[in-house]
Amino acid sequence: MTTTRYSITREDLTALLPDQPRYRIDQVWKGLFDELSSPSEMTNLPKDLRTRLDAELPLALEPVTETVSDRGDTIKFLWSLDGGSRIETVLMLYRDRATVCVSTQAGCAMACDFCATGQAGFTRHLTDGEIVEQVVLASRRARIKGRRVSNVVYMGMGEPLANEEPVWRSLVRLHDDCGLSARHLTVSTVGIVPGIRKLAERPMPVNLAVSLHAANDALRDALVPINKRYPIGDLMSACSDYLDAKGRRLSFEWAMIDQVNDRPSDAVELATLCRSLRLPAHVNLIPLNPTPGYPVRGSSRLKVEAFRDQLESLGVNATIRQNRGTEISAACGQLVAGQPVRITPSRERDS
Ligand code: SAH
Repeated sequence: MTTTRYSITREDLTALLPDQPRYRIDQVWKGLFDELSSPSEMTNLPKDLRTRLDAELPLALEPVTETVSDRGDTIKFLWSLDGGSRIETVLMLYRDRATVCVSTQAGCAMACDFCATGQAGFTRHLTDGEIVEQVVLASRRARIKGRRVSNVVYMGMGEPLANEEPVWRSLVRLHDDCGLSARHLTVSTVGIVPGIRKLAERPMPVNLAVSLHAANDALRDALVPINKRYPIGDLMSACSDYLDAKGRRLSFEWAMIDQVNDRPSDAVELATLCRSLRLPAHVNLIPLNPTPGYPVRGSSRLKVEAFRDQLESLGVNATIRQNRGTEISAACGQLVAGQPVRITPSRERDS
């Protein structure tokens, strides 16, 4: 694969422009990652250099469609990659923050039944440049709306810790060059124990979210197949070591499935796991979003709230994840990047 615009390292850039003084390299670097400019917009550079950069540093993501919901506050991007596979990225604008949800793989090999990405299978890993580019392009979109991206969550298509090295390089790039703080970077994993251990050895204290969904092995084996390889005991010990290494509270994601994992006994088991950590884990409850291949329903709002209240009464902090983008299939577990089935009720008018 050729070097793309956001996979380039500073050394590559210097090698690409051997005739340029150092301050020019600095200008290009700052233009790309800090100012989010495309080369043609870098008016502080001579025109021939802009043209050269445009040609030599192509983008890796080709836009296919952009769909908007929540009155313009959720935007889903569908991209086509080198080789033809497709991925999605979601930009969510909240009152107090703007979050980009990035994909780390085209498809996913983890095969969780309730997740549309898992239902579709695995195609390929993304490169660090492809991950960073999702953030840059979504940030440029946010800027049109007068907003600045503050948070990045690795919760799109794919399993980040099955692609740890490029994911790590992208985190470093976002932190060092795009100016995002580690506190605002969150990696979500299905529970790949060696990946959690690897990430724990890395220097930056990024947030770790673990998609738990069940707090006993029998149920988790059924919902999250990788649990057979990395059962809850091993997972919790890796979580505890992550906490020791970083000193940051973990969060557990829990997709609430009607009569499967929303019973009072599930809350008790979950609270026990959360509290087994030195800093009890925070729980993110996600009302199950519909996907084509999973007939089970999500828990009712009332049950989700009762579950949250029960966790709170057991001394565990829990929040109900705001449901964003369900009507454009941009919500948790709905990213599949299939043929662009357009179910957009309203195109945004302000752009
Ligand atoms: N593979 C990683 C990153 C995906 S994050 C992981 O598993 O953590 C996406 C989150 O949405 C995960 O917590 C996932 O379990 C959850 N999810 C998947 N399908 C869902 C669905 N249909 N409804 C609600 N949440 C879902």
